[in-house]
Amino acid sequence: MPKHPVPKQKQSKTRSKRRYHTFEGRVRKKLTNRIQLVKCSQCGEKRRIHHACASCGMYRGRQVLNVDKKMQKITKMQA
Ligand SMILES: [Zn+2]
Repeated sequence: MPKHPVPKQKQSKTRSKRRYHTFEGRVRKKLTNRIQLVKCSQCGEKRRIHHACASCGMYRGRQVLNVDKKMQKITKMQA
């Protein structure tokens, strides 16, 4: 006889998955509430607050990311 508590039955896949999915949903809801999206003043795209814009690379009126360089890298990798 084992000295520790042992489950009587194996838990079904459905039951484990259901528990996981409710947990996943809760976490996702929390994260979506936490992330604030604002309109970019330069291009009008949605960007995260206190983050540089991914489409134009601007942050508080100055260029922070080199968007063109990124594109070149991607094209080089594909070729
Ligand atoms: Zn932008």
